[in-house]
Amino acid sequence: MMPEQVPLPPAALRLRCDTEALAANWTALDALSGAARAGAAIKADCYGLGVSAAVPALAAAGCRDWFVAHWQEATKAVRHVPAAQVSVLHGPMSDAEAAYAGALGVRPVLNSLAQVQRWLAAGGGPCDLMVDTGINRLGLPLAEIGDPAVAMLDIEICLSHLASSDEDCAQNALQLARFSAVRSAVRARRYSLCNSAGIALGADYHFDLTRPGLALYGGVPRSELAGSIAQVAFPEAAVIQVRDLVAGESVGYNGTFVAPAPMRVGVIAVGYADGYLRCWSGRGHVCWQDKLLPVLGRVSMDMTIIDLAGAENCGEGDWLGLEYALPEASSASGLSQYELLTLLGRRFARRE
Ligand SMILES: *Cc1c(COP(=O)(O)O)cnc(C)c1O
Repeated sequence: MMPEQVPLPPAALRLRCDTEALAANWTALDALSGAARAGAAIKADCYGLGVSAAVPALAAAGCRDWFVAHWQEATKAVRHVPAAQVSVLHGPMSDAEAAYAGALGVRPVLNSLAQVQRWLAAGGGPCDLMVDTGINRLGLPLAEIGDPAVAMLDIEICLSHLASSDEDCAQNALQLARFSAVRSAVRARRYSLCNSAGIALGADYHFDLTRPGLALYGGVPRSELAGSIAQVAFPEAAVIQVRDLVAGESVGYNGTFVAPAPMRVGVIAVGYADGYLRCWSGRGHVCWQDKLLPVLGRVSMDMTIIDLAGAENCGEGDWLGLEYALPEASSASGLSQYELLTLLGRRFARRE
């Protein structure tokens, strides 16, 4: 038989996106945004969860404003939501990108006077404007918001981005004060300042629209949000071999774990190439039914070895869940909650 006539065997890695938890997180963040509406940051393939599973669930919950970083991501987003609801954060770097935004019908987020002029030269139309209030990343400097070209724009959303909203520090109030001044100086239909953590800073920060990303996908960037946010990403790996060790045998590269007694161990099909990085070596856990099974020794590229003590009926082909509640997983691994999500690689089967 030709290879194309034989079905591809199922993946030994899968990433379950709990779309009910995702929708509930959006609804909670929309309510916490008070009089403002919540949109959604869907860049990086919805922080690794997969646009095709996550975006329809968010749209069904009521979300109508979508933020991507790249033009390629905009192309994917418009398969699921109206182009007029999509903002492209990186802005038009060339005339070709400005033309592409116009043809696709998405809004470019203009980040500099050069981008403002490029957009006007391309014929203009609805756009967003990012103003830098202190992160010094993307955005028009405050000194340039009075430029006559800015007054010629048809701005849907005037936005800025908080640098330290996950901390209590003076920079938040400083950025708020600057953005309030921007609001008086730049004419737009809507104003937007907050990411996930910013929503917890209070009503003064909410303006017309908030832009949560991390918290939609189960991240808890500030303790105030802890009771409102549920886990969404559930990475799972199959057991591909079970073996019995005698006392004194070592496990994995460099033998960093040595069996103190006879042990039954399992090899699961996830490794650092999948974003399960070596920082989990000897630290991570996987779930089997109600039991937490520890990672033994080093994580390899494609495999991780776990202790099957207490999981006598777990065998080859069974699925184990990585312990991946984001705040706890971040403390255990030293990775940020953002990294934990976006690292999960392409070998995880996602619902398409
Ligand atoms: C990524 C991003 C967000 C979402 O931030 P979270 O911290 O994930 O909630 C909001 N606004 C902009 C401009 C972003 O780049």
